[in-house]
Amino acid sequence: MKSETIAIHGGYEVDPTTKSVAVPIYQTVAYAFDSADHGAALFNLEVEGFRYSRISNPTNAVLERRVAALEGGLEALCVSSGQAALNYAVLNVTELGCNLVSVPQLYGTTHTLFAHLLPGQGVTVRFAESDQPDAIERLIDDKTKAVFCESVGNPAGNICDIGALAYVAHRHGVPLIVDNTVASPILLRPIEHGADVVVHSLTKFMGGHGTTLGGIIVDSGNFPWREHAQRFPMFNRPDVSYHDLVYVDHFGKAAYIGRCRSVYQRTTGAVLSPLSAFLLLQGIETVALRVERHVENGRRVAEFLRNDRRVEWVNYAGFPDSPYYALAQKYLSGRACSLMTFGIRGGFEAGKKFYDALGLIKRLVNMGDAKSLACHPASTTHRQMSAEEQRKAGVRPEMIRLSVGIEHVDDIIGDLDQALDATGSSHRLQAAG
Ligand SMILES: *Cc1c(COP(=O)(O)O)cnc(C)c1O
Repeated sequence: MKSETIAIHGGYEVDPTTKSVAVPIYQTVAYAFDSADHGAALFNLEVEGFRYSRISNPTNAVLERRVAALEGGLEALCVSSGQAALNYAVLNVTELGCNLVSVPQLYGTTHTLFAHLLPGQGVTVRFAESDQPDAIERLIDDKTKAVFCESVGNPAGNICDIGALAYVAHRHGVPLIVDNTVASPILLRPIEHGADVVVHSLTKFMGGHGTTLGGIIVDSGNFPWREHAQRFPMFNRPDVSYHDLVYVDHFGKAAYIGRCRSVYQRTTGAVLSPLSAFLLLQGIETVALRVERHVENGRRVAEFLRNDRRVEWVNYAGFPDSPYYALAQKYLSGRACSLMTFGIRGGFEAGKKFYDALGLIKRLVNMGDAKSLACHPASTTHRQMSAEEQRKAGVRPEMIRLSVGIEHVDDIIGDLDQALDATGSSHRLQAAG
C-alpha cells in the first residue's frame, strides 16, 4: 500500500471484540493471565501478548506497526518523546569506552545529549567537521558503534546523503541511525537508502497539531548484528538481566528493537501514554495531505522572502543555487521541506524587531505544526552552545527559523510582510517582469 493509505489503515484491523473502527484507547496498566503457566510463558517471551504497559500496550502497538510500515521498517518502539527515542536508540548499541560518529548539524537537545550527557556515561561522540561521507569515515574506528545523522538537519536545513553515509558506515561494520523528524516518511524513507534505524519525534509533522509529545524508533531489521558479534556483544551474548536471553537468537532480525524494548523501555520506562498514542494516530491519518500543503506553502513563502530586499539571505533547499538542491532532488523528489531559515537585513536588532512584530505566526520552539511557527535558535534551542558550536550546527545570530504551516499562504505571507515593515527598512524588490 502507498503511504497515504498506510497512514490511515496501517497496523489496525477492526477490533475483533467490539468492532470499533477507531483505534481503541487501552487505558490499562496490566493484562490478566489465563493461568500461572500463561503468565510464565509471557514473561519468558514464549507466547505473544501483553503483560504490563511499561513494556507494551495494544494502542501503542498500532502506532508502532503504522509508523514501521510508513518507514518500510520491520518493527518499532514508541516512547514518550523524540529525545527519549534518541537516547534509547543510541544507548542500545553503546557500552563503556565506545564512541559514536555524528554529523555536526543537529537539533539543539540532541547536541546537548551527545556533547554533554553521553560522555559522562563513558560514550564519546565524535562530531565530524561536516556532513560529508569522507568527514564521517575519517572518525570511525574499532570502538565506533554507530553513525548518526538527521536526514534533514534542524535547523540547519542540510540534507544528508544517506546512501553514501550508509555505505561508509557499513564498510566498517557499523549501523547508520537517522533522525527523520524534519523530512517525515512522506518526503523520505531513509531505510530505502540504507539506514538501519530511523528515529522520530512524533511531536512534529507526524502528530502535526502541536498537542502531543511522542517519539519512535524504527528498526529496519537489516543490520547483521550476528555477523558483527565482536563489535556488538550486547545482542549476541546471554543477557544475565533477562535470564540469559540472547537477542539475536530470540528476536532474529528484530534483535535491535527487541532489546531496546526488553532492556531500556522495561527498566527505564519512558513510556508513551495510550491516550497520546491515540492522538498521534489521529494526526498521522492526515500526515500525507498536510505535508503536501506544508511543502507547497513553504515554496511560496521561500520565494516571497527571496524576492524581498529586507531579507538578506534565505536557506531553502528548493532553490537551484542551494548547496543541497541536488540532494533535495535525489532524496525528497524535489519537495524541499517547509522548515527554512533566513536572515533579516540589519542583523540581530532588525531580526528581533521582526520577530516581535509577528502576529499570525507564533513565536515558539516547535515545528511541523499545522500552525506557522517562528523561532530564534541562537537565543533558544541552541542557546547552550558556544558561538563556534552554533556556527558548525548551522546557526547564525540573526537567523530566524520558520516552520511554514498549512494556513492560507496569502495570510502567512501577509504576516511576514507586515513584520518586515516593522524592521524599518523598506526596500522591496520591484516585481521582476
Ligand atoms: C523536536 C525534535 C527532537 C526532539 O523531540 P521531542 O519530541 O521534542 O523530544 C529531536 N530531533 C529533531 C530533529 C526534532 O526536531
